[in-house]
Amino acid sequence: MSKKPKPRICLIYTGGTIGMIETPDGLRPPENPSDFLKIAPELKELVEIEFVELLNKDSTNMNPSDWEKMARAVYERRNNGYKGFVIAHGTDTMHFSSSALAFAFGRNLNFPIVFTGAQTTPRILHGDARINLVRACRVALEPLAEVVISFGDFVFRGCRAQKKDERKFDAFESPAFPPLAYITERIDMQPIARKKRNGGRGEIEFRPYFEKGILQVALIPGLEPKLLQPAIESGDCRGIILQSFGAGNVPDEAGYSFIPIIKEMVEIQKKPTIITSQFPAGSTLDSPYAPGKAAVDAGAIPTGNMTYAAATAKFRWVLALVKEEMKKGEVSPSNKINQIRKRMTENIIGEVGPVEPID
Ligand code: ASP
Repeated sequence: MSKKPKPRICLIYTGGTIGMIETPDGLRPPENPSDFLKIAPELKELVEIEFVELLNKDSTNMNPSDWEKMARAVYERRNNGYKGFVIAHGTDTMHFSSSALAFAFGRNLNFPIVFTGAQTTPRILHGDARINLVRACRVALEPLAEVVISFGDFVFRGCRAQKKDERKFDAFESPAFPPLAYITERIDMQPIARKKRNGGRGEIEFRPYFEKGILQVALIPGLEPKLLQPAIESGDCRGIILQSFGAGNVPDEAGYSFIPIIKEMVEIQKKPTIITSQFPAGSTLDSPYAPGKAAVDAGAIPTGNMTYAAATAKFRWVLALVKEEMKKGEVSPSNKINQIRKRMTENIIGEVGPVEPID
């Protein structure tokens, strides 16, 4: 009797604690990443896996060219008959990578790309490496059309999630958007999750490009704005992220005011400044407070209820896109900042705005 073939998924390994081993110098990625699959041999009962050793690093060391590598690894295999893709990744920057891939694939993505990782190495028997891997492979069989993070008991939209704890197995949260699914005996998919569409969504508009030269400054009381002056004048700096207090509030009192810096960035340097928040959840960054309004009036771009990870990936992605639009003559240099503002504030792949379905 011939056995029914198992559904196929592609598992892309990039590193992280989920595959790490203990060494005298601390936890490190293994010498031989192909051993990774040994942590869950029972997976062959569920799926047939193509294993791709793409990277082998602590995700602390991920950079935008790694995002591009991951995106290309999936894109090149998109027509190979997989139900979905799983990317094993470190937790420290998983939410940046999942946001970046969501922008790279855009709205026509019609299959699941599932990030997962772990808080413990596979050696910890009661840990989460094996179970998170098995669950992510199971989630990749669902008819989802999103980049997601599957971690612990939840599936989150990749561009809405952020890390919230460095030890607990419940390591991620989605502060301004509900989970897409709860992992129970079954994968309890919520109606808000974007589903695969029969017949596809049209050709993927694949844009895995992310601009360099972004500087983020987390505001602290008493931070002297003049410390930023050399950076904003540098040709290497293409944009600034001010991580604000509360709902987008930025100091505006003499001596410590960031308003002149924002004005100089926009009016003289012709470079954008965006404002993120430590608390993306309820805040729309449409700040009712005078210091928040002053920053926006000076030309800063608020990022709504985006997570800081999504805002960072989107900022790099939008800058690369607008650069291309300028090269093609579709956007004039005098309209650069306005175009960046327009792209940053529109909802591209469900990364910002109220809880509503995206098509
Ligand atoms: N430092 C690790 C990493 O991000 C942490 C983890 O995977 O949990 O690769």
